Amino acid sequence: MIPFNKPPYTGNEDQYVLRAMRSSKMSGDGEFTALCHKWFEKSLGCVKALLTPSCTQALEMAAILIDIQPGDEVIMPSYTFVSTANAFVLRGAKIVFVDIRPDTMNIDETLIEQAITPRTKAIVPVHYAGVACEMDTIMDIAERNSLFVIEDAAQGMMSTYKGRQLGSIGHMAAFSFHETKNFTSGGEGGLLIINDERFVTRAEIIREKGTNRSLFFRGMIDKYTWVDVGSSYLPGELQAAYLYGQLEKAEYINSARLSVWGKYHEHFKSLEEGGVVDLPIIPDGCVANAHMFYIKLKDINVRSAVLNELREAGIGAVFHYIPLHSAPAGKKLGVFVGQDKYTTIESERLIRLPLWLGMSDDEINLVKNTVTSAIMSCDA
Ligand SMILES: *Cc1c(COP(=O)(O)O)cnc(C)c1O
Repeated sequence: MIPFNKPPYTGNEDQYVLRAMRSSKMSGDGEFTALCHKWFEKSLGCVKALLTPSCTQALEMAAILIDIQPGDEVIMPSYTFVSTANAFVLRGAKIVFVDIRPDTMNIDETLIEQAITPRTKAIVPVHYAGVACEMDTIMDIAERNSLFVIEDAAQGMMSTYKGRQLGSIGHMAAFSFHETKNFTSGGEGGLLIINDERFVTRAEIIREKGTNRSLFFRGMIDKYTWVDVGSSYLPGELQAAYLYGQLEKAEYINSARLSVWGKYHEHFKSLEEGGVVDLPIIPDGCVANAHMFYIKLKDINVRSAVLNELREAGIGAVFHYIPLHSAPAGKKLGVFVGQDKYTTIESERLIRLPLWLGMSDDEINLVKNTVTSAIMSCDA
């Protein structure tokens, strides 16, 4: 039995969580949150890092910060997690989906411009599998059309695009520390990255329930009060402590995942050369973080048959996403602009293989061999 995921754990987390538990401050923005913020601000070179309880909430904050109004349009791929869309839908936005590129499963940057209207406010590129979107083109389009770019970098921690960290390129970015991601803050967690100084002050206010409490704590004002809309967008110290234990081991976690990914890639290359599967492509200039290893089979029928065999063999392989534009809520709240040439057909043939920190060679080999024989018997 090989599970699809095991939450990353390095052994470093325990001591920090205990320290947070026994400290006199367990609510947000304590010692460990500050350590995490510093770590991200240094490693990403961003103006501001703010831990949030989830990536979903970091995206919600971004939607408030760019002042999304009812009727505004936000361009994104349909092949993504629901939160990419929901965060903007909650502010009344209409979601405009465009097709993906079949090589990376990322938004096709050449189709964005034709989807822009006078109501367009933002582009939300999703770095699928931790592989960068074509950010130079996207930032250029945004600049020429006065749009904001919010990177959904939920899967992108420690990946780079032309030498720049994902999450450091758009006006803002959101990361996830859910237990299925490369780093976790104890099951659920997220991060808002701000690269544009204009958003910093208001971000701190929105995150603190619409109050200027952050300024108060820094001694910059003598009382705090309600100054804007807001919500509770800061996680407790236990989350931050758990995460900090992993950040200290970031290089180790990243290289361990890359090693598993490399072993899968090496093995499945021969099937790709035989035309049986398609493998992930990492474009020139991009370095990825081995967030996931996926293969693409011939079609949805082969995929169903292969997944059935893997389930019976105890291999936790899964598929995702149902394209948002074909989901019940997506039909109501969004519109697909242009032709769906790849989104549906490519999403229907993709499966994700187990990939987690600490996978042994025996476990990797079992997955490789079981998947290969399942494909051979189903794709005959
Ligand atoms: C995981 C994920 C999210 C949501 O992250 P949470 O931390 O669970 O809110 C959003 N977008 C993408 C692309 C994701 O993979």
